[in-house]
Amino acid sequence: MKPDLFEAPDYYNLDDLFTDEHKLVRDAAREWVKRDVSPIIEEYAQRAEFPKQIINGLAEIGAFGPYIPEEYGGAGLDQISYGLIMQEIERGDSGVRSTASVQSSLVMYPIWKYGTEEQRQKYLPKLASGEWMGSFGLTEPDHGSNPGGMTTNFKDMGDHYLLNGAKLWISNSPFCDVAVVWAKNEEGRIHGLIVERGMEGFSTPETHNKWSLRASATGELIFQDVKVPKENLLPNKSGLGAPLGCLDSARYGIAWGAIGAAMDCYDTALRYSKERIQFGKPIAAFQLQQKKLAEMITEITKAQLLAFRLGQLKNENRASSAQISMAKRNNVEMAIKIAREARQMLGGMGITGEYSIMRHMMNLESVITYEGTHDIHLLITGLDITGLNAFK
Ligand SMILES: Cc1cc2nc3c(=O)[nH]c(=O)nc-3n(C[C@H](O)[C@H](O)[C@H](O)COP(=O)(O)OP(=O)(O)OC[C@H]3O[C@@H](n4cnc5c(N)ncnc54)[C@H](O)[C@@H]3O)c2cc1C
Repeated sequence: MKPDLFEAPDYYNLDDLFTDEHKLVRDAAREWVKRDVSPIIEEYAQRAEFPKQIINGLAEIGAFGPYIPEEYGGAGLDQISYGLIMQEIERGDSGVRSTASVQSSLVMYPIWKYGTEEQRQKYLPKLASGEWMGSFGLTEPDHGSNPGGMTTNFKDMGDHYLLNGAKLWISNSPFCDVAVVWAKNEEGRIHGLIVERGMEGFSTPETHNKWSLRASATGELIFQDVKVPKENLLPNKSGLGAPLGCLDSARYGIAWGAIGAAMDCYDTALRYSKERIQFGKPIAAFQLQQKKLAEMITEITKAQLLAFRLGQLKNENRASSAQISMAKRNNVEMAIKIAREARQMLGGMGITGEYSIMRHMMNLESVITYEGTHDIHLLITGLDITGLNAFK
């Protein structure tokens, strides 16, 4: 792979709006990605393997629980810093960002928000340091966009719960130490349970043959009469709103992360087009190529402003789920379109692993589907503005 010469576009001087802490956090993440992710990521993606050696680095840049309070091992940062960390990681690879998103927003967040103090003390510091890795089990083979229909269930056996069912498409599952699993009780109410590797009847087979997020491990969570201690139930929130609250936090991170992937594709295409000579001049001098670049930087700038404003609202606890959906949907589509255009600008070289664009493009096919598909986020906006439910 070519050396990482990334220079971040900032067309509307967004840096003026960031605090010194935002810039410090972002620059540390940016440097780490250049040093520890870019040189190895293409090889791991080609091999379809998650590079476990970067777990410590992810913890050091604050990617595991950026906004979780420091008393639990988190970085204690605000929502904009969290977003900027996700942006920088996804600039390197969406699969690596997925690992961080799951750990932070889908595992640490529910334990912090819905768990007991004992659960927080037991799990959060180890998850923040990367000593333990987590996964989040919501999706099932027959229930993706409609998680409320889940059939995974648990029964009260007096001194423990008995968990049965299966989850599919679970990031980090093959190597997770703990899983936050969503299941229905005997009354059909959804609750979160913390399941630990080693519990009898719990297995995590890996899903192979992915053409997307190849540097992220994906798999199943299978529960066959798993005895879960009663103290592993998350007591402070139940119902579908509990997992959806976690998804809000992760989707917000994705809205920033997608900007990172788009920035990398744009920056690569800009540099390449100024160096690549055809018909006696750089291809960047042709109007058709300039149109592509001009539209890319316009869309990136709009996405940056959307994410920044959403971050302000999140900091004030005023961001609605529908606002988050809009940003996730817009920014991921923006990134995937830019990846496709940038890929073409590199001609044949665009399809090789010499450059990051094709990997971003394939990764974004998952990002546009997970955490609520592109269509589902549109329906969420539709419901929000009309008050009419078009889901069913
Ligand atoms: C790489 C990867 C990692 C993932 N990681 C996780 C994870 O860690 N944890 C987890 O729980 N899940 C995870 N997922 C699952 C992901 O969230 C689901 O794939 C997603 O929610 C869509 O579900 P589905 O694949 O079953 O598609 P379906 O729900 O079957 O949707 C198929 C199509 O139908 C459309 N559709 C569905 N309902 C409607 C409707 N009412 N109106 C109009 N169109 C509709 C959808 O938009 C989509 O285009 C991951 C997925 C991938 C690909």
